[in-house]
Amino acid sequence: MEILLEGKTPAEQIKSSFEDRMNYLKKNDFCPKLAVLALNMEDASASYVRRIENNCQKYGIGFKLFNTNSDNEFVGTFNQVKSNSEYTSIMFQEPLPKQLANLINQIEENRDVEGVSDANMGKLFKGDTNVNIPCTSRAVIEILNFYKIDLKGKNVVVIGRSNIVGKPLIPQLLNMNATVTICHSKTQNMSEIIKKADVVIVAVGNSNFLKKDMIKDDAVVVDVGINYVNGKLVGDVDYENVKDKAFAITPVPGGVGIVTNALLIENIIASAERMVKKKEEKWVKE
Ligand code: NAP
Repeated sequence: MEILLEGKTPAEQIKSSFEDRMNYLKKNDFCPKLAVLALNMEDASASYVRRIENNCQKYGIGFKLFNTNSDNEFVGTFNQVKSNSEYTSIMFQEPLPKQLANLINQIEENRDVEGVSDANMGKLFKGDTNVNIPCTSRAVIEILNFYKIDLKGKNVVVIGRSNIVGKPLIPQLLNMNATVTICHSKTQNMSEIIKKADVVIVAVGNSNFLKKDMIKDDAVVVDVGINYVNGKLVGDVDYENVKDKAFAITPVPGGVGIVTNALLIENIIASAERMVKKKEEKWVKE
C-alpha cells in the first residue's frame, strides 16, 4: 500500500472552518438547531445519535431528539417540528417505514440536512452541488479529493445502491469524470467487474466482503462498511490482506466514518448560512 486514506486529516480540514462560520451566524442572531426524529430507536442508533448530539454541542449547534413510539406519534411530532422554524435542520433516524421516511419531502429542501429528499437528490443528479448531499457519499468524495486521487476516465465500481451511499455517489463520481458502475445483490459476474476497477467503493454491510483476490493490483479501495464482529468495529473489506495489494485504502475505523460525522455538522452550518443569505437578500434593494 502506498497511501493510507485515513479520515482524520480531511475531517480536521473540514472542521477547521466551523468556528468562524458559527461566529458569523451568531453575529446575525442565527443559531442552527438540529431535530432528529426516530421511531422506537435501538441501542446501536442511540449511540450514533449521541455522537451527533456531542458534535453539535461542541460547535454551539442546538440539538433535540424526538424518539417516538408509534407511526402516529412520529407524524404528529414531525408536523410540530416542521412548523417550528427554530429547527433549521431536520433528520430522520433510519430504519423507518417508507411512508414515514417520505415525509422528508414535505420540508423545505434546505432543512433536509441529509440531502435525501426527492428535491435534493434530483438537483444533485442534475449536477447542482450547492445542496445538502448525503454525508457518507460525500465523505467518500472528500477523501478521494483530499488525497488527490484523480478519477478522470477511471473505472470506478461502487458496490451497494442505497439512497444514502451508492445512488448519490453516481452524480458525484460522474462530476469527477469517472466511468461509474454500480453493483448490488443481483449483479451477475461481479468479480469480473470488480477486477477491472481502478477504484472500488464498498458499501454492503458485510464484513470481509471484498477480498484480496477480487481486486486488481494497485486498485484504490474505499471501505464504507460498518460491522461489529465479536464486539470489534470492522468494515466490508478484508483489510489485513487487501492492504498489501491496493495502492490506497481507507481504514475502518478511522476512514469514511470520521469524515461523515464532520460533514453532517458542515451540512447543518451550510443550511443555516443559506438561510441567513436569503434573509439578507430580502432586505437588499434591487
Ligand atoms: P443498505 O441500505 O443495507 O444497502 C446495502 C447495499 O449492499 C444494497 O444495495 C445491497 O444490494 C448491497 N448488497 C448486499 N449484499 C450484497 C452482495 N452479496 N453483493 C452485492 N451487493 C450486495 O446499506 P447502506 O445504508 O448503504 O450501508 C452500507 C454499509 O455502510 C453498512 O455497513 C453501513 O453500516 C455502512 N455505513 C457507513 C457509514 C459511515 O459513515 N461510514 C454511513 C452509513 C452507512 P440490494 O440493493 O440488491 O439489496
